[in-house]
Amino acid sequence: MNIQQIRNATLVVKYAGKKFLIDPFLAEKGTYPPFPNSLRQDQNNPLVSLPTSIDDIINNVDAVIVTHLHLDHYDDASKEALPKDIKMFVQNEEDANVVKNDGFQNVEILQEDTVFEDVHLIKTKGEHGRGEILKLAGLVCGVVLKHQNEKTLYVAGDTVWYEAVQEVIDTHKPEIIVVNAGDNQFLEGGSLVMGKDDVYEVYKAAPNAKIITSHMEAVNHWTLSREELTRFINDKGISSNVLVPDDGESYSF
Ligand SMILES: [Zn+2]
Repeated sequence: MNIQQIRNATLVVKYAGKKFLIDPFLAEKGTYPPFPNSLRQDQNNPLVSLPTSIDDIINNVDAVIVTHLHLDHYDDASKEALPKDIKMFVQNEEDANVVKNDGFQNVEILQEDTVFEDVHLIKTKGEHGRGEILKLAGLVCGVVLKHQNEKTLYVAGDTVWYEAVQEVIDTHKPEIIVVNAGDNQFLEGGSLVMGKDDVYEVYKAAPNAKIITSHMEAVNHWTLSREELTRFINDKGISSNVLVPDDGESYSF
């Protein structure tokens, strides 16, 4: 497989001969107002440009996986750019209705036993924060990809560390794990995605896996930089386990 970090949570995953686009957020730098009640109210989203052209990203995509419909995972630029007959996987009926309403004709709700071509897709749980903020943040999912000729890949989505992430790791034993680790926050309510301590918990649960950190430094409410995370994993001695890609960087496994 090859996993390319595009920007924010957007990934291009080439897996068992198929090209998956995950959480497309394709607008030009500065298109949308900042998320409110958070850091950097003077900066529009996305904070940075795409590392490659939209054509490059969406060319020959076999399926799109949208873990939830927040703007930084599914935006107007993506709705415009993606062909309306492309295969779209979403987490539930509610999201399917929105995506169909946006004109997409080939929308399927991820299940725990979805098979696309011959790739097994397993929807996983996530919690987009802890406590009260969860009501505001809404439902999210992640996905496990399995194929006989590939290592097992777990894309955790917008979730903090909690027992369901541990369960996915215990059940599916992924060798590659992508976590969203910008520790994005509003001024109140705590982490919405993983921070460095969450990443360390993932490492402890899967010490032999390669962990790739995504969703960093691309929308205004991030609080954990790549530099700080890199210092942390160096201090912990886990820099060969945790990979912190720049936008555009890719890995083959
Ligand atoms: Zn997000």
